[in-house]
Amino acid sequence: MGQDLSQTDAGKEAGSSWLDSGLLSLHDLILQRDRFLVSAHARPDGDAIGSVLALSMLLRQLGKQAEVVLADPVPVIYRTLPCVGTIRQADRVAGRYDAVILLECDSIARSRLGNLEGRFLANIDHHASGRPFADINWIDTSACAVGAMVFRLAQAAGAEVTPEIATCLYTAMLTDTGSFSYAGTDAQTFALARELTERGADPSRIAQDIYFSNPASKMRLLAAALSNLNTEGRLAWAWVTQADMARAGAAEEDCEGGVNYLIGIVGIDAAVFLRELPSGCFRLSLRSKGRVNVARVAESFSGGGHQNASGCTLNGPLSAAMEQILHQLRAELARSAAAPGNHHAF
Ligand code: 5GP
Repeated sequence: MGQDLSQTDAGKEAGSSWLDSGLLSLHDLILQRDRFLVSAHARPDGDAIGSVLALSMLLRQLGKQAEVVLADPVPVIYRTLPCVGTIRQADRVAGRYDAVILLECDSIARSRLGNLEGRFLANIDHHASGRPFADINWIDTSACAVGAMVFRLAQAAGAEVTPEIATCLYTAMLTDTGSFSYAGTDAQTFALARELTERGADPSRIAQDIYFSNPASKMRLLAAALSNLNTEGRLAWAWVTQADMARAGAAEEDCEGGVNYLIGIVGIDAAVFLRELPSGCFRLSLRSKGRVNVARVAESFSGGGHQNASGCTLNGPLSAAMEQILHQLRAELARSAAAPGNHHAF
């Protein structure tokens, strides 16, 4: 029997009712079934990796079989996480499972894993663009990270949050709140961070691994990106091409975080970082401040995310991708400026 976490600040972190039907359905699923596959979105970030690891450890602790499969490799900065060696990389799922639990996905396609259709699917997500595509859907847009939802699930299941699980969940929270800086970071977020710290997460070591372990190639790529910096009023943009990445000796994951330098400029309320993929398409990372809603912009290109942090993919060439995204961002900036009661909440 789980603990009534609604009585604790950490338990309130996700902000929604404790008697969340998605959470209850997921809890029942875990009680009733034995063999689970756990996955998350392609190009996994800290929340995706920390949360799949924590959930798989939690399932094993409950006596269940849990395998973790991701379509893309684990970025270097997350390779010190507990049990990270249990993550398998594959483009399709083989084997028999009683259920597949997908984290941070708005569709099967977002996992980029083949052979998921027809399987029993559970979906745990906290994105504004979350969709109930699975058999069980637990979507809580007020949760600061999917890691916070996994913590609630652990509590509901009466599982012990070990130092290893706490480390993975703290990593999820730290990265998905932008180091506790995004709108929505509040006393409950810190209550959960405190709880995880008390249970064995080491904030300084985790921050060291994530923020002070960058390869030099990432800095060389950043130099290339910033040499392409453009601003126009409240809008900033920059890009890197495959040629820039080759010159810097950079991997795709070295592009992560580049957009934060753009949104970090004073007076900039919307920013986009474009990176060329080997296919010639462009991956876009969008960031905004306050009411400027970049999730809406990303969704208009079949992407998604949060109000202040989202992403999508556009066809090249660069000039065409840029024209499309800048057009939509200018429109969003105009819309947000005209909205009643406009203020900056970032
Ligand atoms: P990032 O710019 O860091 O890659 O992504 C920012 C946020 O947007 C993350 O929460 C990420 O999961 C989400 N996101 C990025 N790209 C996509 C996409 O193509 N589709 C959806 N649904 N979400 C995305």
